[in-house]
Amino acid sequence: MNLRTFDHGIHPSYSKELTQNKKIEKAILPKKVVIPLQQHIGAPCKPLIKKGDAVEEGQKIGEATTFVTAPVHSSISGKVKDIERLPYPGGGKVLSVIIEGDGAIKEWSNSTDIGLSLGMYTPEALRTIIKEAGIVGMGGAAFPTHVKISPPKDKKIDAFILNGCECEPYLTSDHRLMVEESEKIVWGMKTLMKAVGIENGYIGIEDNKPDAIEAVDRITKDSNIKVVVLETKYPQGAEKMLIKAILNRKVPVGKLPMDVGVVVNNVGTAYAVYEAIKYNKPLIERIVTVSGNGVKEPKNLRVRVGTSFEDVLNQCGGITMDGEREVLNGGPMMGISQTTLEVPVVKGTSGITVLSGEEIKPGKVDPCIRCGGCVEVCPVNLMPYKLGDLGRLYRLDEFKAWGGLTCIECGCCSYTCPSKRPLLQWIRVGKVKVREKEKL
Ligand code: SF4
Ligand code: SF4
Repeated sequence: MNLRTFDHGIHPSYSKELTQNKKIEKAILPKKVVIPLQQHIGAPCKPLIKKGDAVEEGQKIGEATTFVTAPVHSSISGKVKDIERLPYPGGGKVLSVIIEGDGAIKEWSNSTDIGLSLGMYTPEALRTIIKEAGIVGMGGAAFPTHVKISPPKDKKIDAFILNGCECEPYLTSDHRLMVEESEKIVWGMKTLMKAVGIENGYIGIEDNKPDAIEAVDRITKDSNIKVVVLETKYPQGAEKMLIKAILNRKVPVGKLPMDVGVVVNNVGTAYAVYEAIKYNKPLIERIVTVSGNGVKEPKNLRVRVGTSFEDVLNQCGGITMDGEREVLNGGPMMGISQTTLEVPVVKGTSGITVLSGEEIKPGKVDPCIRCGGCVEVCPVNLMPYKLGDLGRLYRLDEFKAWGGLTCIECGCCSYTCPSKRPLLQWIRVGKVKVREKEKL
């Protein structure tokens, strides 16, 4: 079969066999959670509670103050112990609410069942429920979903894509959701399509997930949703690559998917939408793949937002103790290395990957040999060797002029470089510094 795909990219070792056939398990109710008041792209939330307050599971504890933000909710029932700036898995520190649990569990499936008939909701009502539930893109980017599904009136949207690629090595949380909850995901997708007012939908899945393709295809047969099987290639799940592969549309530099008439959402997001409409349940838990050669028992776990990485890893037998290891929020390509296991799982945590031995990125960096390998693989046609140097040296005007801000941070360049140059790391520095400078 001739599979659809995009230009450039890489074929890393996927290592999905550690968890791809493991059913999703429910994680233990944490005794304590740390809920950051900013778990999304956009403005932080304003706390609605204070130290000593009692909170219920699902209670809104952080209010959105602007359009581009998403409220946050308590994932357990208990008492607010403190509100302070604490380490965030995406880097730095974020104002966070510490809640000590009382052990009570809310049965969402018995609560407000407001039905499954989509006909009873207007698109606006759906967008409001999705916003109030604090739903964000769950593939890792954590962009507020209500913003994505509210395109400006002058943008003509004619296609909706559900992203089921999960091209990042080791991660299988989306894969398992598609296999185990295909009906709910498709229902969530239809909800999102109705909220945007789109008739035609596509679900993009890489060909290394035949059971997910079969499960979703069964549900969508004879409907206006088409399953598109894509080549297994990294970063197939990046929005721009997905749009090119499925619709053959190119998102211009500096533009968004909505500029070419497309809205893209992740399968985890569609599942969260289903729960928000069906049970009035906010986004307080998510599926996390815990994997890597440094984890004793790799698993797919349904985890409450705010649970510490340490608690999650302990439920997977802990970390193998021999030698050095690296703990990542996410997978090995785009994941962010952690310095403490006290960081919490947040809405965008699709995986916790623990690498050890050979898999850890080596520390010795050699000079660039001008082999061109990084240019060859860059899916957005950048000059990573050049951008890496410009970012590292804070030559910010040149960094911007060479297109540094359009880097999608896929990490293909660093992965390919024979000199082990941490190009993505340097490019991220450049992007952060340019944005800081432009805010001044
Ligand atoms: S420059 Fe950016 S987009 Fe290009 S390969 Fe490197 S990380 Fe990916
Ligand atoms: S892959 Fe590495 S060595 Fe080759 S051109 Fe890029 S930065 Fe230089």
